[in-house]
Amino acid sequence: MHLARFPRLRLGHLPTPLEPLERLSAALGGPEIWIKRDDCTGLSTGGNKTRKLEFLMAEAVDQAADIVITHGATQSNHARQTAAAAARLGMDCHILLEDRIGSNDPDYTRNGNVLLDHVHGAVTETRPGGADMNAELAALGERLSAAGRKVYLIPGGGSNPTGALGYVNCAIELITQADTMGLRIDHLVHATGSAGTQAGLVTGLKGINAQVPLLGIGVRVPRAKQEENVFRLAAATAEKLGVPGLVAPDDVVANCDYVGEGYGLPAPSTFEAIRMFAQTEGILLDPVYSGKGAAGLIDLIRKGQFAKGQRVVFLHTGGSAGLFGYLAAFEAEHRAQAA
Ligand SMILES: *Cc1c(COP(=O)(O)O)cnc(C)c1O
Repeated sequence: MHLARFPRLRLGHLPTPLEPLERLSAALGGPEIWIKRDDCTGLSTGGNKTRKLEFLMAEAVDQAADIVITHGATQSNHARQTAAAAARLGMDCHILLEDRIGSNDPDYTRNGNVLLDHVHGAVTETRPGGADMNAELAALGERLSAAGRKVYLIPGGGSNPTGALGYVNCAIELITQADTMGLRIDHLVHATGSAGTQAGLVTGLKGINAQVPLLGIGVRVPRAKQEENVFRLAAATAEKLGVPGLVAPDDVVANCDYVGEGYGLPAPSTFEAIRMFAQTEGILLDPVYSGKGAAGLIDLIRKGQFAKGQRVVFLHTGGSAGLFGYLAAFEAEHRAQAA
């Protein structure tokens, strides 16, 4: 596979750092934990969507688009990063936000990522939870096209084969970085949602035959569904790269035991993970994705799935801007802890 065959814009600060988490490792007493800082990609407070947007926005520019449209949940990090990328390229951006958790808390509906969407100049419209967001986005695209706009449509999470190329790139970057440092990686763990991150990583790791097991910690749907979504996208990504059949179903492993009550609803283990990273390492996670991914990592270390002597890399996918949408949840959890 050869990524330079695909158009790409440089939107991120890459390579992102790969660093040891010594105090967190000591606190858990298990494997040596390292972190790949994709929260530090630089674009509007960073995060994993930057890598996808490098390939997606290059395609938008190639197609001479003047407006990009996408959708996400209200506190979507993908929406915020897409708004920033569009601003950087002088394109308009129109975003459909699904009220997936049915909230009327003004911090959730207006602060955090939503505030930043608007600071970047994006137009947002809301849709009720459960709306068919792909159909809504297609209808918006048709309306804008009929009005004479050159529309580039980005699916939720930027998760299609073009976006997933960003995480093929990350897999190559990570292994190259580890090889340069002389760092053997035994496991790679991250939060998985719309599947593009895991699909790209698994395709990249397979493509360079790294033999590093990858575990996605789910944030929304049950395990079988998540693995199916990731596998389907990985297969399409490998095909795009000219290596059909590269990824086998067994290469895709998700654990969806840390979702709690649902997407966007932090569980007690999510808060614990956020506090642990913040208070042992000074690193901010988020309540929707990386906090749940880290909760899975922490629990699996406690259960011995990752043992002493092994080295685990946690891919930090970003999302800290979302913390500001969750003031009420943090305060409620704090009161419950104190009681
Ligand atoms: C979107 C997102 C994820 C999940 O990545 P997918 O490619 O959608 O699976 C993880 N963490 C954060 C912070 C995100 O914004």
